[in-house]
Amino acid sequence: MKKRLLAGLCALAMTLGLTGCMRTQEHSTTIFAMDTVMTLSVYGPDQDALKNVLSTFTELIYQFQNGLSATREGSLIDKINTARGHFTLIGTQDAEMWEDALALCERTGGALDITAYPAVKAWGFHNDEYRVVPEEERGELVKKIDYTQVKLSEELNGKPAVTVPEGMEVDLGAVAKGYLGDRLRENIAHNQEHWPVTSALLDLGQSTIVAVGARPDGSPWRIGIQDPAGQDYLGVLELTDQSMGSSGNYQRYFEEDGVRYGHIIDPHTAAPADSGLAGVTVVADSALLCDGLSTALFVMGLEEGAAYWEEYRDFEAIFIEENGNITITPGLKEDFSLQPGEDREVRVLE
Ligand code: ADP
Ligand code: MG
Repeated sequence: MKKRLLAGLCALAMTLGLTGCMRTQEHSTTIFAMDTVMTLSVYGPDQDALKNVLSTFTELIYQFQNGLSATREGSLIDKINTARGHFTLIGTQDAEMWEDALALCERTGGALDITAYPAVKAWGFHNDEYRVVPEEERGELVKKIDYTQVKLSEELNGKPAVTVPEGMEVDLGAVAKGYLGDRLRENIAHNQEHWPVTSALLDLGQSTIVAVGARPDGSPWRIGIQDPAGQDYLGVLELTDQSMGSSGNYQRYFEEDGVRYGHIIDPHTAAPADSGLAGVTVVADSALLCDGLSTALFVMGLEEGAAYWEEYRDFEAIFIEENGNITITPGLKEDFSLQPGEDREVRVLE
């Protein structure tokens, strides 16, 4: 009752042009999920509504994580990977995610491949028990990587189901946070009546960031771009109503005999990608596209990645090479700036 009265007074105040009731509120939460720290911040006129949004999102993220963890026994991914070639039922919404993920594998010519998991495991990236995989073993692993062997079907009583041939394994780790980011953005857009959110910054662990609208004062969100070679940010990227995804060899890696081995696998060699890049950031509307492409471009390297951008031009990117050189696509010319004191040159593609 009280709430309704308040809402009524606010409506009256708005009509009279008094904006006091409309002051933008903020609510933030930090959670640990999907192996990373996530910080979600939402803004809007009603604090209770903002709290509701974030508790719903937290629940949703935990559920999503439990289904998609490749290492968790009994998760959907684990069921598919241990089904010995039989179909495993998936939810209707999940079917969309599998379709999108497979489409991205195809679109990147297999640089992104959701069946790279046997190689991820062989190198120990799934449990941090790292080892350098000998060449002969890699040759065997390459044969187990082929996303075209993943079958998505309506076979089980009209319900969607997934299967991979025995011996092969899937892992959606390279696209899951992006898919989740798009779902959260949709959720905000579709629930404006229940919980008005005027803007939001959903940081799903630095590697995927979803910016909904602009900051409450109307200025763009400012996101620090990590220097792969150090602890600091090398620059700032301004985002408004866009998503961003980053991949690099600084997030999860091990070193042996002076060589760094990162967690992104080149599906053609079954070894950590060694393309000369240290990090890639992708900006686009879809967080799934950003997440999938940042992984794929990291595998491709600068030259092939730049040619790929040239062909599609439906995303923007920042390429950071191991030697520290930075190349950006022209759409980021105004939005990306180096930190004060950084004197490297930024090359802009044409
Ligand atoms: P993050 O997990 O930090 O967001 P990415 O989005 O780049 O980083 O995903 C990397 C993860 O995806 C790896 O940890 C591994 O599980 C999986 N992976 C590694 N290489 C590939 C690849 N070429 N294609 C698809 N998935 C990959
Ligand atoms: Mg990715």
